[in-house]
Amino acid sequence: MKIITKTSESFLYKYLNATSPTGYEAEGQKIWLDYIKPFVDEVHLDTYGTAHGVINPGKDYKVVIEAHADEISWFVNFISDDGYISVIRNGGSDHIIAPSKKVNIHTSKGIIKGVFGWPAIHVRSGKDANLSPSIKNIFIDIGAKDKDEVIKMGVHVGCIITFDEELHKLNNKYYVGKALDNKMGGFCIAEVARLIKKNKTKLPYSLYIVNAVQEEIGLRGAEMIAHRIKPDVALVTDVTHDTSSPLMKSKEQGDLKCGDGPVITYAPAVHNKLLELVIDSAKKAKIPFQRAASSRSTGTDTDAFAYSNQGVASALISLPLKYMHTTVEMAHHDDIENVTNLIYECLKNIKANHNFKYF
Ligand SMILES: [Zn+2]
Repeated sequence: MKIITKTSESFLYKYLNATSPTGYEAEGQKIWLDYIKPFVDEVHLDTYGTAHGVINPGKDYKVVIEAHADEISWFVNFISDDGYISVIRNGGSDHIIAPSKKVNIHTSKGIIKGVFGWPAIHVRSGKDANLSPSIKNIFIDIGAKDKDEVIKMGVHVGCIITFDEELHKLNNKYYVGKALDNKMGGFCIAEVARLIKKNKTKLPYSLYIVNAVQEEIGLRGAEMIAHRIKPDVALVTDVTHDTSSPLMKSKEQGDLKCGDGPVITYAPAVHNKLLELVIDSAKKAKIPFQRAASSRSTGTDTDAFAYSNQGVASALISLPLKYMHTTVEMAHHDDIENVTNLIYECLKNIKANHNFKYF
């Protein structure tokens, strides 16, 4: 089934190119909520910015489909007298990829451009021959002569920094850029809402389409919204590692490949009956899928939903992704469509008051 249209792709670009750092997701959330508004009966925003739409509000039985809205970023942590900026992480930002990257510093006067500088190859000799980037030695240069000028430009400790990077396509089949983790998930669940509206799909329960904040620092947005909604079922989507590219270790990290379909995870937090429903839905609709296992936790919002409200039947449908937490994350067009389609098919197979008791 072909899902991504010209209109939905232009939403995808707009949404991915908006900034949504953890704790500062509003810009992206506005775009997302505007897009889903025509497809849902209600829209809501919680205190910390988690956005959700509801189809069929008011039913006792509640099903959630969820993605996380936030992207990793940096905070300004220190400004030196000569005007260089040191950073700390906001989420799992990668110091190794920082040098030579362009950045946007978000200030009340607007965006201030900067770069992560790095000493030239010529001068790295002796004990510095193997100098490598660490959180302690990376720094941003905004072209200021000293600390006073930095401050006059509107940059202060606590300003958010994002990489200056835009979404693009490779070989007409891969989307490439930053924050595909997990704005691609937000895109998929928005497309599910659109499909339900377009196909006039009747659901015997209230469906909550949730784009949660603050996943990257510990599943916090999902925790909050799970308590607010008190769902019976949660189908979560996030990204997972493609292990087919160089330097990955498939024996340890699982055998997963972009283009081979959504990844279905086995883990204690994943409810086995819901997992069965997901697999049956994939088989019935001839959607390709891959399997992964997680020891202890899945590291996704699945765990936050599963262990909330005295237990919520939860499952995880993941999008394989290359180069996670870099500025060149890659996701395959077909996987994005198949994740969307699989969530949609699962929703059609969840019955009124679906019972997930094991016996
Ligand atoms: Zn992440």
